[in-house]
Amino acid sequence: MSSIYGRRMASAYPKPALPAGIDPNGPYVMQWWTPAHDQWLRETIEKYQSPWFWHVSDALIAITPENALANWRASDPICKRWAWQNALMYFAVARAEHLGLSALIRPVATKKCLICEQSFLENSIPEPLLATVGFGEIEFCSPCLAESFFNRGNFGATADEIKTYLRDLTVALGYPPPSAFGTRRGDLENMPTWQRLVVLDLLRRKPALQRVRELFGTWKNALLESASSG
Ligand SMILES: [Zn+2]
Repeated sequence: MSSIYGRRMASAYPKPALPAGIDPNGPYVMQWWTPAHDQWLRETIEKYQSPWFWHVSDALIAITPENALANWRASDPICKRWAWQNALMYFAVARAEHLGLSALIRPVATKKCLICEQSFLENSIPEPLLATVGFGEIEFCSPCLAESFFNRGNFGATADEIKTYLRDLTVALGYPPPSAFGTRRGDLENMPTWQRLVVLDLLRRKPALQRVRELFGTWKNALLESASSG
């Protein structure tokens, strides 16, 4: 894969260039911005590190009264220069710099992938992969994660191979997997490392969904058959 998903030694998060003219104490934002917003900014940067600004809009909107945001969007000139979600992100970046919060971003460490054993930079993993594996879990390189999460599966899998896969995955997870397992945000979050290794390995030999439907009709039928023929 020649996209950002194929890289190990390049950052997947170029810092957004801060447009000129964003005041970190902008009077329009300060009408609704509270110490809780600064605290939220601090926690978000601590949690998400380099890609924190991806998480700005949703969370800020969640902790801000709707009418305050509506008034701000209608009055602040920065909302005329950019789409307001972008204006909000630029403001948050300016505010974080102003408060010195970029110091919370750890120096980028070089790690060794537990699957391929190659070195990779911990900020080389694109956000969608981190969202699936868990943001605190930088143990696998982007190409290895992409191979587990983005492969479309084996279109030539046999019925036995599918049943074995489903049994193994059910055991590894402790519950029967939904058909979309491995593609959704948070799917591998909060697992110990050994469990993640097993699940990532299994996902590499998953059957194609289309093949499961050809042979079993539905995913649920395949799960039931795999359970009864164990
Ligand atoms: Zn790897």
